[in-house]
Amino acid sequence: MAYRWPAGTVFKRIDLDVEDRLCPGCTLAMHVCDHRYHHLWTLQGPTQVVNRLVRCPDPTCASRGQTFSPEAELSISMPRWCMGWDVFCWLGHRRCARHWSVPQLRAELQDTYNIRLSADALERYLGRYHTMLAARQQDPERLSIAYRAIASLVLTIDGLQPEKGHETLYVVRELMGKRVWFAEPLLSSATQEVQRLIVLARQWAERLAKPVRGWRSDKQDAFVTAIAAECPGIPHRYCHNHFLRDVAKPVLEMASRAKVKMRHKVRGWRAIERRVLAERRHTAALVPCPTHETPQTALPAVATPQACAERDLSGGRTDRALDATGLAGPGEAGVADEAGEVVLGYCAAVRGLLNDDQGGPLHPPGVRMSEALQEVRASLDRNFAAQKGGVPSRC
Ligand SMILES: [Zn+2]
Repeated sequence: MAYRWPAGTVFKRIDLDVEDRLCPGCTLAMHVCDHRYHHLWTLQGPTQVVNRLVRCPDPTCASRGQTFSPEAELSISMPRWCMGWDVFCWLGHRRCARHWSVPQLRAELQDTYNIRLSADALERYLGRYHTMLAARQQDPERLSIAYRAIASLVLTIDGLQPEKGHETLYVVRELMGKRVWFAEPLLSSATQEVQRLIVLARQWAERLAKPVRGWRSDKQDAFVTAIAAECPGIPHRYCHNHFLRDVAKPVLEMASRAKVKMRHKVRGWRAIERRVLAERRHTAALVPCPTHETPQTALPAVATPQACAERDLSGGRTDRALDATGLAGPGEAGVADEAGEVVLGYCAAVRGLLNDDQGGPLHPPGVRMSEALQEVRASLDRNFAAQKGGVPSRC
């Protein structure tokens, strides 16, 4: 569908002419016979490209009936596109290199360049960008240049499922050139379907005229049979990353059970947190307020919702809260707060630890949690010891 420009749009005008005005048939000077107007968005704003079309005046000339367009037209945009190459490349670069979402792209185009395009339009143009990118990546000539210095190939295939329930994207990569060769979404992981991709990869290798030194994939049956059938005699190695993940499965399960136990043991901190906050509100209500201040402002800074949110964000860090006694409000509330602030700091840290889900097979989340809780415990011990007059000697 053509782009509808809002009424009253002011366009920047660009006039284009055919460079060689002499007829290629009879070398007579050609006449302007028509104008083609192309309205589009460039990073400079709404733009009107006026193409002056020409044709040979001689009715008997071999080029009769043929219209010539300005060569420069395609350097601004593709025919009938609603955006120039500059906007198109801007979009593609932000999408592919920075992983911006369509709403983000749309908002940024509007804020920075005042370009208004629908999400549908952006998706359509991003589709075109991806098509061009894939065509360039897969261009046999470019590929053979990229592989000139590489003697043999190592191929891999893997299925990626960015979202559960969607089709799996099968990606074939070559490790020596570190290139994604091609990718295809498949609805089923049947051997037949997968085998087609292996055949395709083999054909690519044949076109490059390079020997395949090996295949690498996980131990999915379809991969094993298809590679054995299509590439007999070529070593097929199982990916150690998948292997490690599978071997570590029992460890991760144990870590998960340990986490449940730790969560069970470390509890009651919410109640402590609530008690401190309730005490604060109580103290704050008791503190007489100067006439020009409302009771609200006499509340210590830490009790406001923003302060709580900030504490949540900084979760896992006790030192800040421990040093933060100066944050409290004026008067007696401030003195009483010193202890409360420390307690809230510890609570925030513990909350952060208990919700932490990071860590892979080599550093399971359960081990991370245990280590972090030990640190909190050590910190508490240090503070208690300091209170009692110095750290006790280990001897
Ligand atoms: Zn002519």
